[in-house]
Amino acid sequence: MRLRFAPSPTGQMHVGNARTALFNWLLARGSGGTFVFRVEDTDAERSTRASEEAIADDLRWLGLTWDEGVGAGGEVGPYRQSERLHIYRAHAVELLAIGAAYQCFCSAAQLEADRQEALAAGRPPKYVGRCRDLGRAVARRRIEDGERAVIRLRVPADREIAFDDLVRGEVRVHTDVIGDPVLVRSDGTPAYNFAVVIDDALMGITHVIRGEDHISNTPRQLLLYEAFGWRPPRFAHVALVMGPDHAPLSKRHGATSVAEFRARGYLPEALTNYLALLGWSPGDGEELLPIDELARRFSIDHVGHSAAIFDVDKLAWVNRHYLKVADPARLVSLCVPFLRDAGLATEPSPDDVVFLESIVPAAAASVDRLDEVPARLGFLFDFAPERVLADPVLRAEAATARPVIAALAEALTADVHLLDRDAFRELAGRVRAATGQKGRALFHPIRLALTGETEGMELDLAVPAIDRGARLRPAGLQPIPSAAERAGRFLAALDAS
Ligand code: GLU
Repeated sequence: MRLRFAPSPTGQMHVGNARTALFNWLLARGSGGTFVFRVEDTDAERSTRASEEAIADDLRWLGLTWDEGVGAGGEVGPYRQSERLHIYRAHAVELLAIGAAYQCFCSAAQLEADRQEALAAGRPPKYVGRCRDLGRAVARRRIEDGERAVIRLRVPADREIAFDDLVRGEVRVHTDVIGDPVLVRSDGTPAYNFAVVIDDALMGITHVIRGEDHISNTPRQLLLYEAFGWRPPRFAHVALVMGPDHAPLSKRHGATSVAEFRARGYLPEALTNYLALLGWSPGDGEELLPIDELARRFSIDHVGHSAAIFDVDKLAWVNRHYLKVADPARLVSLCVPFLRDAGLATEPSPDDVVFLESIVPAAAASVDRLDEVPARLGFLFDFAPERVLADPVLRAEAATARPVIAALAEALTADVHLLDRDAFRELAGRVRAATGQKGRALFHPIRLALTGETEGMELDLAVPAIDRGARLRPAGLQPIPSAAERAGRFLAALDAS
């Protein structure tokens, strides 16, 4: 099998397009086939190299590597449409020569007048065919006289075009509703429907999975395959990705591009796993599958044709799973940019990294996305008892629990090193023995005095992390006050308040 992803580089990659790329990739990888990356950049005004690079970058980030195409080379390139104009030109000449296409001189104003007339008469607007029978000699003379023409496909009258869509089953369209499509614009650039057929054919593409917004193009493309005498690929048109309101997923719904999801701290394996489930189901209820397993199981037969609703909560659920199982070193390197943005880190030293590896996985396991990690780790760096005690409710709580806080501060003046869970539990045992408090009455004041927070990570993880961080004297992280310093400062601030 030969499959391709053929984006138009006119902006960031939308998750709907990423899903299209993924389905093609899964089928290629699962079948031992080839995945081609082609860039459809014939719209010179809207296409940019920056967008092409961003899309390639997103594909690589998602793990959707390609065997052939832009950046990878291959036998049937070039793979950028803007570098294939000579190929389209030669094929346009061929179609004109056999009479399957013709030159059309109708002006934009004329076409618009035709359209209005059709609408007024209640007919579907389509090209009226004014230039269909001009004849080649007349057309040539008009071109020589300096007129500009587009090239249109001569759509046969009164035919039914049928194809067996791998997702939607049989699709039939009558040629009466198809106006002769423009193949080549008057500036010589090919239209999408023309270039895509030539490329898919010459690149030996066997299967095309794409959004169902292209389904109305397919009969036009099939007519072109027929005109050239080429065998068309199999088509699979998948339902578009929708927002919760069943409208196509757009900015209104929040993040839509792969880049945005990446910036929010979704892991690439979470996004690919989630996108694979958008319209496809592995069938046995198992949903959390790594990409290689997705490729092994993927089949178009199990792609549904109903709308795929993008569900951010489900994506978060998938992401949480991958955050919990991610390698600590990788999590830290992924988190550093977020810590930096939050002002908690600059350039972590190797020792800082070792420290982060001891605490970031616990923080990451308790959030939906990596951009929430800095807030979970804020207690390490940002210790401000005065600010906590400015809240009257918290102040009253702390005042009631003063004996616990005092006993805590006292216990911590001894040379204790709270470097692990056991040491923390022992400390808590001492405070309990000194005050007779237990459960929430014991742990809540300890949490407040040492972290400045009313909730957060397990205390027997958080408190040892505080002391390990304090001993570290981090070079590329904000300083971390020790547990002893915190208890002392908290008590002093309480007494002063
Ligand atoms: N460049 C087209 C798009 O991005 C490709 C459509 C197709 O797969 O044929 O929509």
